[in-house]
Parts: sequence; C-alpha cells; structure tokens
Amino acid sequence: IRALPGDPRAGPGVREVAQAWSAVEPTPVAATRLLAQSTEMAQALGITPEDVASARFARVFGGNELLPGMQPYAANYGGHQFGHWAGQLGDGRAITLGEAVTPTGERWELQLKGAGPTPYSRTADGRAVLRSSVREFLCSEAMHHLGVPTTRALSLVGTGEAVVRDMFYDGHPAPEPGAIVCRVAPSFLRFGNFELPSARGDLDLLRRLADFCIRRDFPHLHGDGEALRAAWFGEVCERTAVMLGHWMRVGFVHGVMNTDNMSILGLTIDYGPYGWIDNYDPDWTPNTTDRQHRRYRFGQQPAVAYWNLGRLAAALSPLFDGVEPLQAGLQRYIDAYTAADRDNTARKLGLAECREDDTDLMQALQDLMRLAEADMTLVFRALLDFAPDSDPGGQPAAFTDAFGSAFYDPDKRAASAAAFEEWLARYAGRLREDPLSVAQRRERMRLANPRYVLRNYLAQQAIDRATADEPEAVMELLDVMRRPYDDQPGREAYAARRPDWARTKAGCSM
Ligand code: AMP
Ligand code: MG
Ligand code: MG
Repeated sequence: IRALPGDPRAGPGVREVAQAWSAVEPTPVAATRLLAQSTEMAQALGITPEDVASARFARVFGGNELLPGMQPYAANYGGHQFGHWAGQLGDGRAITLGEAVTPTGERWELQLKGAGPTPYSRTADGRAVLRSSVREFLCSEAMHHLGVPTTRALSLVGTGEAVVRDMFYDGHPAPEPGAIVCRVAPSFLRFGNFELPSARGDLDLLRRLADFCIRRDFPHLHGDGEALRAAWFGEVCERTAVMLGHWMRVGFVHGVMNTDNMSILGLTIDYGPYGWIDNYDPDWTPNTTDRQHRRYRFGQQPAVAYWNLGRLAAALSPLFDGVEPLQAGLQRYIDAYTAADRDNTARKLGLAECREDDTDLMQALQDLMRLAEADMTLVFRALLDFAPDSDPGGQPAAFTDAFGSAFYDPDKRAASAAAFEEWLARYAGRLREDPLSVAQRRERMRLANPRYVLRNYLAQQAIDRATADEPEAVMELLDVMRRPYDDQPGREAYAARRPDWARTKAGCSM
C-alpha cells in the first residue's frame, strides 16, 4: 500500500473544503473484536492477512486507536427526507478516518460507522447495533459481487458494549450488542452535501465543494466553468440511472432514498432498512416507517431517483446561468435509465436485443409473477433452463413444473399454471426468432439473473448466530454471496425462497 489514511501522501479529502466538515475523533469502546472482514477489500487496500488478524487492526477499525497522522472528521450535509427538506443532517454516526491510496493510484476513503457521536448526532448516540452492522457489512459486499455500484465494507468489529435501539422485551428497551463497520468508497459525498450550502445561500461553499468533487472524483472530465459543471451533472445523472438499472435487475429495494442517501458517484449508500424482492411485488417496501405512503417501494425507485436528481439540480442551479444544462442532465437520466431497462429485459430473457414488443413480454411476465406471488429470483433463474427447441422438457406445459419452487401459495400456483404456459409459449415463439444459440442465451441469462441474493431471512439467520457468539456465520454467508451467479453445489439452501416463518418480512431501520 502506498498510503494509509494519515499518510501525507494521501490527500486531505473533504477536509480540503473549509466549512464542509467538523473534526471529531472516534469514541473508544470497551473491547474491540474483529467479527468479519472482506478479504477482497483488504487486498485492494494492500492490507495483508497478517495485519487484518492483528489486534491493532481491530483497535483501529473499532475506533480505539488512530494511525499516525489520521485527522478524522464528520462531513456536513442536509437532505430531503420523504419528500420534505429536512435541513442540516450530517454524519451523525459516521467518522471518516482519511484516504488510502493504493499502489495503482486508486483512492479510497475509509469511514467508521457507529464509532460514537459527532457534532451532527443531535440527540442520538452515534452508535450502531450488531444487527444493522451485519446487514450493512454483508449487503455492501454482496452488491459488489453482484456487479452493482456500491460503497464497500472492509470490516465488522464488535465493541463489547451494549446499545439500546428499537428492540423491546416485555415492554422494556432491550440492549443489543454494538458494532462498527468500516465502509470504503472513493467518496462519500451525497446530493445533500450540495443541497445544504445551497439552501443556506452559501454559494462560495457550494462552488468550492463542486470544484473539489469534479477535480477529485471526476478527473476524466475536462474543460472549465459552466461547461465542465454541466458535464459533471450529466454524468451524475447517468451513473444514477445505471445504479437504478442494477437495483431493478437484481430485486434490491433501498428503503430510504432520501437525498442524503444518494451518492454523487452513483453508488448504493446507506444500508438501513433495505430489502430484497422475494415474491415479485412492485409495491413492496421493507421500510416499516414507509408502509403507509410506500414512497420508496420497489417499482417507484427509478422515479424517486429522478425526483432526487431534480433536487440536486435545483441546489446546483446558482452555479449555472440558465436551466438548459440541468434539464439536459435530467434528460440524460431518462435516456440512460430507459436504455438500462431495455438492456435488463434483453439480458434477463436471454435475447440478443430488446425489440419493441419485448418490453410487453417482460411486463406480462412481471404481471404474472405479481398475481401468482412467484419469487422473482427463482423464476428468472429457472428460465435459464427453458429451451423449447432442443428439449421436450422445455415445452411450456412440461416446463411450468420448473417454476414449482418459486411459488409462495399453492392455490395461486394452481390458478396461474395456464397463464404461465401461455406466456412460455409466447416466449418460445420469440426465442425462435432470436439469433443466439442455446448455450449463448443461457450464459447471457446466467450473468443477469443471480442465483443467490441476500434475502432478508438469510441476513437474519447470520445476525442470530452472530448474536449467539458465532460470528463465523457472517463470513459463511459472505462466502456464498461472493459468487452470486454460479450454481454452488451443496449450497442450494441459500438459494431457497423465503421460508414461511420469515413471511412478515420486516426490515430493520437502525
Ligand atoms: P439515515 O436515515 O440512516 O440516512 O440517517 C439520517 C440522519 O440521522 C443522518 O444524519 C444520520 O447520521 C443520523 N443518524 C442515524 N442514526 C444515528 C445514530 N444512532 N446516532 C447519530 N446520528 C444518527
Ligand atoms: Mg443516511
Ligand atoms: Mg442509515
């Protein structure tokens, strides 16, 4: 590694931009213990397995020791929460340790989540429970392995301290074990970092922050002035569209798409009450605090991202003479998302290209899955084996059996069998017109349709075991999620549909 946070060869990061942050140190905890780590992330940072295993690693990434030169800070930002301007929020329980620079010149910010209060914590404690930390750690890395743009996670460290959150036992608050995740990203800047100075009329800070972000995080953009800023905003829009395309492809529901949880780099950030689609339901949200309006439901996510980009555009507008460049950026989001959606259709159905009426074909399948309460991941994965021309078992009537394990309700399964057969016959007709060979199609579909996703109940099982002093459960689950597109013999259970006991599908907010 060329430079760990604190090394003068690493940059100051956001600390370069005066007034955008506050200095704050992690608050030490009782006893740091490494519970899980990402081998890939450690390797990318040039941290050796010996270093990871050392007591010092757990101390540093549990907030009990700073490396020489580290000048940690919390960033200030605001945001629109559930459609309303919420004013200043800031890193209330995240503390950035600094930047690391790898031998290949990659730059990563390292940030502790749950390391104690900051000037932005308001009345909260700045801590995180093991439950939410396991979820953030696992999902960050699972998303990375799925090929979804995301912040990463280096480590999960137990604090040896209890944290009181929203769990109750017999009417009394029940303390839970605390933990700290070290998350890693080239930048943690959010839409809200730009919204706050704009809302305060601090155009000098807004401009300095935009210039910093463009120079550090978008170095491939050239030019200057308004043209450069327009290119930057356009790219933010495009990256956001690409991220949303991935979410919809794999069935990820973020749950709290407030503008303070939207990364300026188009990375999935802030894993709180997120969830994964089991039975296909565009109206589903894992966020129990959003069950009434369902603002952040699965099917609404692309539209919410567009709305959020509109808030960013409004915040940046003082940096532009006219609105045209911002409108062009928003249009770029629509174009890029439309392209991503069509690409998802082609790849998930194994077609060489998405033709005009293939959008209908996909919509028909989605309607069917919704009405029949069929599991999204299992249906698409089963479709890989549908090969009507070469295999008698691939005839629609015989094949509907292959969807068998995808249904949550036997009555709905029986009631929808004929409709599935009809859809498969239509699909078979479409496949006959497609130039791909069976093998090519299968491979294209395999890489678009994961076999393993981090279903809520799987994460919950790992949390239960970790709480019962079996932290290895987290590493075991991570190991499965490392190869989500491969069939992993002996690990079929991890691909199973949600069991009945997990039906309430409650998310987790803190
Ligand atoms: P979120 O809903 O996770 O995006 O959080 C919204 C705001 O609340 C952010 O400013 C967080 O930093 C802050 N926050 C959430 N949980 C805590 C906590 N336990 N302690 C301090 N601040 C928190
Ligand atoms: Mg947040
Ligand atoms: Mg959060």
